Amino acid sequence: MNLSRQLSNTAQKLPNKPAYVFQGKTTTYMELDGAITKFASRLREMGYKKGDHIALAVGNSPYYVIGLYGALRLGAIVIPINPLYTAHEMTYILKNGDVKAVITMDVLMEKFEAAADQLPAIDHYISCESGKDVSFEGFSLLPKLKSFSRIVAEGNLDFDTPELDEHETAIILYTSGTTGNPKGAMLSHKNLYSNAKDVADYLTINGDDRVIAVLPMFHVFCLTVSLNAPLMNGGTVLIIPSFSPTEVFRIAKEHGATVFAGVPTMYNYLLQSIAGNEGSFSRIRLCISGGSAMPVSLLKQFEQAFNVKISEGYGLSEAAPVTCFNPLDRPRKPGSIGMNILHVVNKVVDEFGEEVPIGEVGELIVKGPNVMKGYYKMPEETAHSLRNGWLYTGDMARKDDEGYFYIVDRKKDMIIVGGYNVYPREVEEVLYSHPDIAEAAVVGTPDPNTGEAVISFVVSNDPSLKEKELLEFCKSHLAKYKVPREIEFMDELPKNTTGKILRKNLRSKMKNQ
Ligand code: AMP
Repeated sequence: MNLSRQLSNTAQKLPNKPAYVFQGKTTTYMELDGAITKFASRLREMGYKKGDHIALAVGNSPYYVIGLYGALRLGAIVIPINPLYTAHEMTYILKNGDVKAVITMDVLMEKFEAAADQLPAIDHYISCESGKDVSFEGFSLLPKLKSFSRIVAEGNLDFDTPELDEHETAIILYTSGTTGNPKGAMLSHKNLYSNAKDVADYLTINGDDRVIAVLPMFHVFCLTVSLNAPLMNGGTVLIIPSFSPTEVFRIAKEHGATVFAGVPTMYNYLLQSIAGNEGSFSRIRLCISGGSAMPVSLLKQFEQAFNVKISEGYGLSEAAPVTCFNPLDRPRKPGSIGMNILHVVNKVVDEFGEEVPIGEVGELIVKGPNVMKGYYKMPEETAHSLRNGWLYTGDMARKDDEGYFYIVDRKKDMIIVGGYNVYPREVEEVLYSHPDIAEAAVVGTPDPNTGEAVISFVVSNDPSLKEKELLEFCKSHLAKYKVPREIEFMDELPKNTTGKILRKNLRSKMKNQ
């Protein structure tokens, strides 16, 4: 079984059911499935075949959905890329990923033109129309340029899908990583299919659901939870090109959204924009949070303000991505990432790979049908991450006596102050619990006395809040060695396009001060 075939099955069973809504226009499963087949058939006529690498640098739109499923139907290996990457970042992935064709937007072609001489292996740029007035005059890439819409229009519905082994690679996901170059996690058809199915079963995502897809589709969280899981079950995806609270509220209300999936910073922005939008989430039955730690105070405030339940889960690109979620049929525990989802086992281990006792902190490792095949062309990194069939996540965690897991922090973000371990998350939770703090992040900095010291960056809702007062607040909640040495106030914390706070940028800000 694979995603593309499953979509055809859904289209046969529910041809007239809306598959997605984009900019007010509804597309049925039959229409979507037809566009996917036509795209695949025309790609084959252009010379592409099973196993070819095709990059997908497109924002949230029907183009993304058709491009992804169309290339998969051909048996190609898809490499999603953040369209906001610079020419330099894109070039690295296109070269490292041995890409032959790029599906992209007309407005992004300038980036590829700038890098054209470094990318001779790319035969075609398949350009999606943004509706903006874009000129390709003088482009050396003009002979390689093809229109996405024309490809679909010229395609054929008479197309025989190649046999696909479930263990063959379907997608290579380049993970951003905090150091070094991005690594390409190879996910098989089985990895992707099983995770979408297991998440959908665990969270009961079904044909009646209308799921908001506002997280970036190039990121695995959106890909599996907001796109593949609903499409697999005949649900409707409400596509939003980029995040703004107003747009999320509008779409949720107009289309009666039932599921919202976001990262904690999105919940924060939505909460701050609640005035006049209190009822917009009235039909939402489930809010899903993941990607980074959901501060408990934010979770509680959000649930109370919107009268909804948030279920926090955990995942990573290498696991397609979900490994844990708070259950719907048992108590949900704020601050916890929940329990093993179906068919996936999580374990907390020491440095020798031995399971630690309940309540103790160790590295979280994962086993299941969702765990990647390895990193593309990186045997050493693969051997480091995949050991004895377990994926080593690099995240520190503990498990309670009821089987709920808690992420303590990333292994590499731990700060050692005078020999004591400080996990940024614990300090951040305290800062978030202060009524005037909207955002908080904590990093370590070298300190002549203690080796490292804790430094905090915050965004405050109250301009009169002073560092001294906040430090006192921290002192009343934390052991002395965990209290920040300094707290810096900022207008906004640096985040990546998935909404994760970029601690590495804060660290380099410290160095440059
Ligand atoms: P990515 O591969 O970009 O999806 O990033 C995966 C990383 O995000 C994990 O290794 C964790 O460090 C972090 N992460 C994901 N979900 C959570 C969560 N619920 N709580 C804390 N960290 C999380």
